[in-house]
Amino acid sequence: MSDVNQDDRRGLPSASNWRRYELCAGSFQLECEARRLGQEAHKKSEAAASGERIHARLAGQSVELGETEATTAAFLAERAEEQVIRIFGSKDVPHIAEKRLWLDYDGKKALSGRFDVCYFTEKVALVIDFKAGWREVDAAEQNAQLKVLAVLVGIALPSVEEIVVQIISGPYGVTQANYNLEALSQAYREIIATLRAINDPNAGFNPSIAACTYCNANLICAATKALVKPLARTQMSALPDGDRAAKLLDECELLERHITAIRAFYSEQMLALPSYQIPGWNMVPGPQRRAVEDWKRARARLEEFVDPVELEALQNFSIPAVEKCVAKSLKLKAKEAGAKLAEILGELLAVKPGNLVLKRVKGEARVAALVE
Ligand code: SF4
Repeated sequence: MSDVNQDDRRGLPSASNWRRYELCAGSFQLECEARRLGQEAHKKSEAAASGERIHARLAGQSVELGETEATTAAFLAERAEEQVIRIFGSKDVPHIAEKRLWLDYDGKKALSGRFDVCYFTEKVALVIDFKAGWREVDAAEQNAQLKVLAVLVGIALPSVEEIVVQIISGPYGVTQANYNLEALSQAYREIIATLRAINDPNAGFNPSIAACTYCNANLICAATKALVKPLARTQMSALPDGDRAAKLLDECELLERHITAIRAFYSEQMLALPSYQIPGWNMVPGPQRRAVEDWKRARARLEEFVDPVELEALQNFSIPAVEKCVAKSLKLKAKEAGAKLAEILGELLAVKPGNLVLKRVKGEARVAALVE
């Protein structure tokens, strides 16, 4: 179960959720409620844990990283150094890593934001937000999280007259926005307006893909559940076109995510509490997983069968991507390519048991559930 003390945000709004707050003012109070009830959606995934390790390395901490994580961290650090030299003319600029800053409002702490790294001189600050994953985020110019960070840094460093905020990502490159004093004032006014809206006891809800996808209140949100009714009334023989079709598909996606969050909640309960049971449902092993521990040696073997240029052109070195390469080079069907890849890699290809997944199970428990 979660706990407001589990992180340093003290249960108050944070920069990383700011876009959601702008889109759906009610989501802040509802996510507090979900936390209180122990019904938060989106508990930490392995991808998020990997991102945290990469961020820790970038902040100078000594952490053990996998090969891909170390490559990502080194790549992001190089891009950041390029930007520091471009903006300040030198890489030897004072900087602070991973610091949480607070905005006080009405004499109390009201919101916080943590930057990955901030380089600064007397007049200029560069705030960098590293994105270690493949998820596409709003570019810096439209990014609400960076808007909040710019204002927080502007307050913390009062002599600074220009704040450059950047997102540095492997797949999507570098995006940048510049805040002068006038832009910072405007951003501050917008942030205060959002802060008031999300603390209003009558804050409204506004479901959308952009807002709901990572909302921790997704499990208990009545506004999302209410989408079921119009969807259930939809006649398959009279499905709409154009804008109404887009709206309908958005609603389908919102409900799918809502359902996924419900399944994830019960999966986590069953994994965390061995005594927790649901009649007719259990955690069972999913499909087996293939893994390559040593991609360097694997690549050397693959180069005997696949043009090295083709391997070099891969966006990522995953088994499905390499399998496609093998299929293309040796003119094989998908199934044959899988067998060939196993033959080429030999002991380098490990087959691991599948992760546990929540499934309907046969047997007494299920029958009992149906009779009830
Ligand atoms: S799930 Fe969507 S509509 Fe519901 S509170 Fe969250 S963002 Fe708002």
